[in-house]
Amino acid sequence: MKAVVCGAGIAGLTAAQCLARRGWEVAVLERAPAPRTQGYMIDFMGPGYDAAEAMGILPRLRELGYAIDEAGYYDETGRRRAVIRYDTFAKPVGGRLLSIMRPDLELALRESLPGDVELRFGAEVTAVSDGERSVRVGTADGTDYEADLLIGADGVHSTVRGLVFGPERRYVKYLGFHTAAFTFADPKVQPLVRDRFCLSDSTGAQLGCYGLRDGRVAVFAVHRTSNPRLPADRAAALQSEYGGLGWIAPRVLAACPPNDEMYYDQVAQIVMPRWSSGHVVLVGDAGYAVSLLAGMGASLGIGGAYVLAEQVARAASVPDALATYERLWRPVVTDKQESAHGSARWFLPRSRAELLLRRAALRLFRLPGLDRYLVRLLSGKQTALIQALASASPSLDDHSP
Ligand SMILES: Cc1cc2nc3c(=O)[nH]c(=O)nc-3n(C[C@H](O)[C@H](O)[C@H](O)COP(=O)(O)OP(=O)(O)OC[C@H]3O[C@@H](n4cnc5c(N)ncnc54)[C@H](O)[C@@H]3O)c2cc1C
Repeated sequence: MKAVVCGAGIAGLTAAQCLARRGWEVAVLERAPAPRTQGYMIDFMGPGYDAAEAMGILPRLRELGYAIDEAGYYDETGRRRAVIRYDTFAKPVGGRLLSIMRPDLELALRESLPGDVELRFGAEVTAVSDGERSVRVGTADGTDYEADLLIGADGVHSTVRGLVFGPERRYVKYLGFHTAAFTFADPKVQPLVRDRFCLSDSTGAQLGCYGLRDGRVAVFAVHRTSNPRLPADRAAALQSEYGGLGWIAPRVLAACPPNDEMYYDQVAQIVMPRWSSGHVVLVGDAGYAVSLLAGMGASLGIGGAYVLAEQVARAASVPDALATYERLWRPVVTDKQESAHGSARWFLPRSRAELLLRRAALRLFRLPGLDRYLVRLLSGKQTALIQALASASPSLDDHSP
C-alpha cells in the first residue's frame, strides 16, 4: 500500500514515520526548498507527548528541548509583575511536558523516518484527482504520484483541503489576533531571557522572548486586531503594535527580519464537519487547527497523525480506518478548540482590569488544589487515548529506523 503525505511539518512527518514502520510505501512532498530553521518555542505535552513516546523519539526530544523554569510577565521597566512556574503545569501531568523549538521537533521526526521514505523538498502539491481505486497527486514541477491514500498535512492554509473540500473561508474561524515569530542574535538581550520565558505584562499586544543555547533569542508576538488581513510590511506592523512595550521591546523590534524570514499569520481555528473524502484525509492544522491560544497544535498534530496511521495500519480497509480516526480523534480536538476560546482572555488581556485579574489569578495558581483546576481550565481534558492505542499495538522493534 502506498501513501503520499503533503507537508513535511509536524503532522506529516509523524504520519510518514508511523505508516512506513507499518510497512507502507510513503512519499512526503514538502513545498519549502529545505528544512525550516526559523521558529518558535513549543510547549509540548498531552496526546502528542504520548505519541512521541510510542514512536520512540522522546529521548531525542528531551536532548533537543529546553528546561524552562518559569514564564514571567515583565512591565515596561523590566520589573517582574507575575509568574507561572513550569512545574505548575508539569506536576498535574506527571512531568510529561517539554519545551522545544519547532524546527527541532521537526528535526527529531525527520531523523526517525525509516530510510525508504521518499522525502522531497521543493515539491509543492498543486493538483489532486481522486478516483475509484486510488488518488493521483500532481506537483508544481510536473511529477505525478498515484497512491492508496493522500494525507493532507499541509497546515492551516492547506492546499489539499482547498482542492478536495472547498475554499478556506468555509472552515476558518478567525479568533481576532495576529501572531509573529522570528529569531535573532543579540548578546545584550540573550542573557536577560536565558532559561526563562519573558513575556510583556501588557494589554492588547504581547511580546515573548526566550534565550536559546546557541546565543539567539526566539521571539513570539501576538496582538489583538479585528482585521484578519495580513499587513504588507510586517516589520512596520510589529513596530506600530509593540513599539510602546518598553524594556527589551525596542531592541527586539530593531532586529525584526524582512517578511520572508519571519513567521506571520492570523490566529485562527479550522473547523470542518469531515476530515476525509474518498482516498484523501486531513490531519494536523490542515483539518483541525486549534490555534496557539490552545497551546496544543503541535501536540494534536502528532497525536492525530499517530491515531490516523494506527487505524490505517490495523483496519480492514482504508475507509474503515478513516471513519475510526474521525470517531476517536474528533472529541479530543473539539475539547481543545473550546478551551482555546476560554483561554483568550488569560492569554492576552484586553484592558487594565483584565490584566490585574490575570495577576491575581496567577497568584492563585500557587494554591494547592487550585493549580490542577486552572490547568484543566486552560488546556482542556487529559486523554489516555494514545497510551491505550500504543499498549494495544504490536511491537515495532523489528522495523526501527
Ligand atoms: C507562535 C506559535 C506558537 C505556538 N505554540 C505552540 C505550543 O506551545 N504548543 C503546541 O503544541 N503548539 C503550538 N503552536 C501550534 C503548532 O506550531 C502548529 O499547530 C503545528 O505546527 C501544526 O503542525 P502541522 O504539521 O499540522 O502544520 P505545519 O507545521 O504548518 O506544516 C505544514 C507543512 O506543509 C507544507 N505545505 C503547505 N502547503 C503545501 C503544498 N501545497 N505542498 C507541499 N507542502 C506544503 C508547509 O510548508 C509546512 O511545512 C504554536 C503556533 C504558533 C504560530
